[in-house]
Amino acid sequence: MDVTLFNTLTRSLEKLEPLNAGNIRMYHCGPTVYDYAHIGNLRAYISWDILRRTLEYSGLEVTQVMNFTDIDDKTIKRSHDEGVTLRKLTKKYEDIFLADLQHLNIKIPQYLPHATEHIGGMVAIVEKLLRDGYAYTTDDGVYFDISKSKGYGALAELDLEAGTQSRIANDEYDKKNARDFALWKFWTEEDGGNVFEASFGRGRPGWHIECSAMAISKLGETIDIHTGGIDLLFPHHTNEIAQSEAFTGKQFSKYWLHNEFVMVDGQKMSKSLGNIITLRTIMERGFSPLAYRYSILGTHYRAKANFTWEGLGGAQTALVRLGSHVGSSMGRINTDYQEKFGQIVAHDLDTPRALALAWEVAKDTSLSTADKTATLLEFDKVLGLGFTLQKEEAVPGEVLVLVRSREDARTNKNWVTSDELRNQINALGWEILDTDKGQEIKKK
Ligand code: AMP
Ligand code: ZN
Repeated sequence: MDVTLFNTLTRSLEKLEPLNAGNIRMYHCGPTVYDYAHIGNLRAYISWDILRRTLEYSGLEVTQVMNFTDIDDKTIKRSHDEGVTLRKLTKKYEDIFLADLQHLNIKIPQYLPHATEHIGGMVAIVEKLLRDGYAYTTDDGVYFDISKSKGYGALAELDLEAGTQSRIANDEYDKKNARDFALWKFWTEEDGGNVFEASFGRGRPGWHIECSAMAISKLGETIDIHTGGIDLLFPHHTNEIAQSEAFTGKQFSKYWLHNEFVMVDGQKMSKSLGNIITLRTIMERGFSPLAYRYSILGTHYRAKANFTWEGLGGAQTALVRLGSHVGSSMGRINTDYQEKFGQIVAHDLDTPRALALAWEVAKDTSLSTADKTATLLEFDKVLGLGFTLQKEEAVPGEVLVLVRSREDARTNKNWVTSDELRNQINALGWEILDTDKGQEIKKK
């Protein structure tokens, strides 16, 4: 099964050719752990989970890295405001984030590096960039000189001519070019105890260098796939490429994938616009996190996804209905559907069509329930909607006692008591049907 992906670098659909046969190494820009992730952020990780599952489904082995940005302006400021150490703050939100991933049935990447554990690697990169003339020192830090970089801005299709005219209000820092970016920031009072020693001056890393160092350290100098939200195209990914390629002299990542935004009322969901929703709120309102996953799969990852509570409600109903077609015994996977499904997801992760196909299976009257079950569970290896074989649940003792009492009441034609007992049985989540053969008990 060949996988085709849209590579932002070439703006085209490309057949995935692993650098090492049979294996894909991929890096996902992870969360900045200073607050709850919002469901827009979580869309990114649902998309890359679908990517991982699709690659695995196609027979590839996947090595996956997602970092935690646990030191930057935002984390330091928040820990200062809350009067807690940086690690205490970041650990709290990291744990919440990992719980969110689990709720969403996202497979946890094998490697979850923290920026603070890779400072040595960052320092080594900055030292080499200084030595090779790609970086220079100013009063407040070490900057990357974009004029030395071959093809700077290609990923984001930047118009460099337009950029050089505008002098950003950063002149006081003696940057050579407005777009030169900080690799390292020298210590200031606001940093408090968050400081690291380096030959070029004590301080802390810039955001972009963190990802380069972690990706190279865990996956090597050239990786297969690098991902992030579309907002990371510039400056983050652009700068990651510039500094990594200046450092290694090699291509940093062969494929770049970007997910589009979750929108609310026509605007990007973001903290600064004050329109964020967390997974916790979704769960508090009685929705399943997997209903959110279902709703996200309903839109292709490269298209904007509009969030509404009505839409989430619809997704929840659809998820439950689709899941109800998974029965309690496994038949045979229908190979026609299986083949179609493989082609659909391998074509740039086309989850809307994959869901439509799952519905086709559910509604196909020529299939037995057992074969539907096997086929839908096969699809769920990629969709990850949490489908499981339905269990024939044993009737609890207290329900059986009520059922027996009701039988007596009915023999004695005591209809009021019989109805009262039915209500009690219903309240315990069971249903009772009066048939020719007597009472039948069913889970509601
Ligand atoms: P952050 O924690 O801010 O670094 O963001 C984590 C990930 O979420 C990044 O890949 C962002 O590009 C992505 N992201 C941020 N906002 C949205 C949004 N509204 N919709 C989809 N992805 C987003
Ligand atoms: Zn990154």
